[in-house]
Amino acid sequence: MPSKCSAKCGRNAVLKRPKTGDSLCKECFFEAFENEVHFTVTKAKLFKPNTTVAIGASGGKDSTVLAYVLKLLNEKYDYKLKLFLLSIDEGITGYRDDSLDTVKQNRDDYDIPLKILSYKDLYGWTMDEIVAEIGRKNNCTFCGVFRRQALDRGANLLKVDYLATGHNADDIAETVLMNILRGDVARLSRCTSIITDSGDGIPRVKPLKYCYEKEIVMYAYFRKLVYFSTECVFAPNAYRGHARILLKDLEKIDPAVIMNIIHSGETMKVSEHSKMPTLTKCTRCGYVSSQEICKACVLLEGLNKGLPRLGIGKSSKVKRILEENEKLKGASCNGEDNKCLCSGNDLKPSKFNDLKI
Ligand code: SF4
Ligand code: ZN
Repeated sequence: MPSKCSAKCGRNAVLKRPKTGDSLCKECFFEAFENEVHFTVTKAKLFKPNTTVAIGASGGKDSTVLAYVLKLLNEKYDYKLKLFLLSIDEGITGYRDDSLDTVKQNRDDYDIPLKILSYKDLYGWTMDEIVAEIGRKNNCTFCGVFRRQALDRGANLLKVDYLATGHNADDIAETVLMNILRGDVARLSRCTSIITDSGDGIPRVKPLKYCYEKEIVMYAYFRKLVYFSTECVFAPNAYRGHARILLKDLEKIDPAVIMNIIHSGETMKVSEHSKMPTLTKCTRCGYVSSQEICKACVLLEGLNKGLPRLGIGKSSKVKRILEENEKLKGASCNGEDNKCLCSGNDLKPSKFNDLKI
């Protein structure tokens, strides 16, 4: 005999909540899930009334559920928000082109205006072209840095007050683990924040911060939401993959580990003796950065100059190479000096490629 919904509504349960273990019917699960997001939004005072919000929309389950739930809560609780969808087209054939069709369907289904920005327009390169240049080893570094900046630029363009992203509890727990494994104290101290300041006055918010990935999939499934579930054609970020596998293994032992890791990240206090980066503006593009030249500009310079490994490594080494590059640009040489990397004013990329950065 099917078990009864533990919310005592009298209906039969159709699912077991991964987060709490409760057996619920569809309607009570929807209510529990939406109430939790509403609680997160109101407790953290994520949005002020009469403001505009760009939802970073990839067509995947997280951003689709985020758009659906934010629209629903906005109407139900009268948040007085004007919503936009903001998508980034990385230029990945067979992946992003298809997922953008899903975003366009979301735009029509939810009646939310959509803005699409492409890497090609912003940086002059598609991810297909970048991978053709750099291979498949560091592609996610380029893609991640460019996407983050592209979303901020899109939010600026739309002149919104907030940028909402679909990061879920699993993503955040994974990031906490990753930062611990890497000893990245600066990122560890801010990766659990529900509101982060991108430095340009448009806060990034994560309304699904406490939603388990499994529940997001269940919600999308039972609500029959249209989303795109194919993996990117380029190999996913290997390091995050290890943290993900570790988290999934731990979750099998006890599903509470996801919330516990987030809680640990939230309450961890960084020693005042730790050196933290200070934010400044990139001298090239004006984007907020902890370095004189932001990571996106360094990576882009590497691509444009045929030095694809520039930016994949320590910032001090990057700075040194950029300085050498500047010096060499104006230098005249006869090509006989072993240290010289120039040929007239053009760089000889192969020599830079050999540098261990
Ligand atoms: Fe970009 Fe890597 Fe994600 Fe593909 S897997 S979309 S290359 S970050
Ligand atoms: Zn820059």
